[in-house]
Amino acid sequence: MKPVLWIVIPCYNEEKVLPVTAPMFNEKLNGLIRSGKISEDSKILFVNDGSKDGTWDIIARLSKEDEHYIGISQSRNRGHQNAVLAGMMEAKDVVDIIISIDCDGQDDINAMDEMIEQYLGGCEVVYGVRSNRDTDTWFKRTTAQGFYRFMNFMGAEVVYNHADYRLVSARVLKELDHYKEVNLFLRGMIPLVGFKSTAVYYERHERMAGESHYPLKKMLSFAFDGITSLSTKPITMITELGLVVSLIGFAFLIWAIIRAFQGDTENGWASLTCIVCFLGGIQIFSLGVIGKYVGKTYMETKHRPRYIISDRTWEENELSEKTDRE
Ligand code: UDP
Ligand code: MG
Repeated sequence: MKPVLWIVIPCYNEEKVLPVTAPMFNEKLNGLIRSGKISEDSKILFVNDGSKDGTWDIIARLSKEDEHYIGISQSRNRGHQNAVLAGMMEAKDVVDIIISIDCDGQDDINAMDEMIEQYLGGCEVVYGVRSNRDTDTWFKRTTAQGFYRFMNFMGAEVVYNHADYRLVSARVLKELDHYKEVNLFLRGMIPLVGFKSTAVYYERHERMAGESHYPLKKMLSFAFDGITSLSTKPITMITELGLVVSLIGFAFLIWAIIRAFQGDTENGWASLTCIVCFLGGIQIFSLGVIGKYVGKTYMETKHRPRYIISDRTWEENELSEKTDRE
């Protein structure tokens, strides 16, 4: 059976680029269908993220022109991640695989062939990874690389140089549905779901038209959101900092007492230094400990699944059938 593919494309104020890229996506989809890799029921799903321009009109027109184009619209702008999730959840019960991709033509659509090959070879998630950043400026390149290193250091596991261009199987989508968090960071959540995954490499181009919605300021807040949504490592770091400050404070304290006994200090200096060192360390450390509890509460409120089973030694209906017979 050929897999049913939906290409999930978030669009926010993209009236300039959509007429250029939509036919390219369609051509790719038709090519994949013709080569027999995917089912004829495959579609291109546009997710209008509350655009204020003519994006939705374009999507509606496209869907009338060609049966491969379909679209959904969010009630308002909710951001790229939510738009992609909305599309994926819309698809999860009717597809075998989805590929999410931006609508601006920056990601090379030809990488889809290899993604599907990898899926047919047994992978449930295939990450599109940029092989080079030649088209980016030095500044963008360096900040982006710093972004991935920093994210991983802070405990948010992300695939290096992977944005949101990826193939995900319906099976993974159904598991992802159990992640009930409202702060979405798909790049970090999908690796958490697990299952066999791999990467395919592609070259990233310039935007074909229109402007980026992600300037540096938004990138920084995205990174901060990602870390605080996925990891409580910052809290651990505060605890560690508190310990270090306490130790240094303690050393200072001893030193201040010794100096005071030697008698070559101002009156009151030693006691003041002792108080400052002692309290500084204790305060940061205590903050860290309280933070640990806040962090745990935060993780609990997510109600994430505690385990996900990927394989069984029996078929889905086999065991229940046996019990029926007995
Ligand atoms: N996008 C969206 N909602 C938003 C912002 C962006 O759906 O609030 C979409 C946008 O239409 C595009 C993708 O997310 O398809 C990536 O946005 P963009 O190309 O502006 O980001 P960049 O590639 O510059 O990081
Ligand atoms: Mg872009």
